[in-house]
Amino acid sequence: MPSARNKIITGNWKMHKTIAEAKDFVRQLIPLLTPDSYTTWLAVPFTIIHSLSQDVQSTHLIIGAQNMNDASEGAFTGEIAGKMLKDAGAQFVLLGHSERRRLYHEDDAFINRKIKRAIEVGLRPVLCIGETTQEREEGQTEEVVKRQLQQCLEGIEPQFLTSLVIAYEPVWAIGTGKNASPEEVQMVHQFCRNILKEQMSAEQADQIPIQYGGSVNASNAYQFLSQPDINGLLVGGASLSLESFIKIVNDKRD
Ligand code: PEP
Repeated sequence: MPSARNKIITGNWKMHKTIAEAKDFVRQLIPLLTPDSYTTWLAVPFTIIHSLSQDVQSTHLIIGAQNMNDASEGAFTGEIAGKMLKDAGAQFVLLGHSERRRLYHEDDAFINRKIKRAIEVGLRPVLCIGETTQEREEGQTEEVVKRQLQQCLEGIEPQFLTSLVIAYEPVWAIGTGKNASPEEVQMVHQFCRNILKEQMSAEQADQIPIQYGGSVNASNAYQFLSQPDINGLLVGGASLSLESFIKIVNDKRD
């Protein structure tokens, strides 16, 4: 299982912050990070990737993107290719976030192609999965995350999945202030890890970080991180303010 020290806290800025605001945030964040801070990633808007990547050189902060197209290049007006993100300095990319699935109708087959492309260009794919309110109420959580994992990772040889990160984000918990309990999340993560073990060796599956996301804040983050199979957090709203984000990143009690 990934060690506590390597738990990854990823801030997802969504469609927030100008270049000046982002640079100011990072300028203030960097001196507050200590060797005891959790590994810290920021998923930022495309326009900010290049300049922030320069600003975080020789720090432990990692910059990534929130989406990409599956094609290598071509006539896809308004889209962005993985190799462009890599070229701009991104090191990872969120794929299959529920806002992309819900608002832009992205399906598992499309996300599967994006993951393959991300791996090809050297970006770490962060695969977001999670059930909707209705699916949860109908008791389908395990069925949904199993289907998403299997279809999104279909046809990818285990040796290409060493850079994969999974983010379990129940849709009903994102931006709503409602959380799953840490114990419930632990059970889903354990279930996901067992599904991964069907696709790769147990040793390899144990190394894949599984993050939780959904209304995480400075008051509840530690409870999630105390669970053995919660290897990090994907934080939306609470990553926009330096005050709350730094509390989460530095709240290491073990
Ligand atoms: C997210 O956007 O991935 C997320 C978890 O948002 P929030 O923390 O605001 O619920």
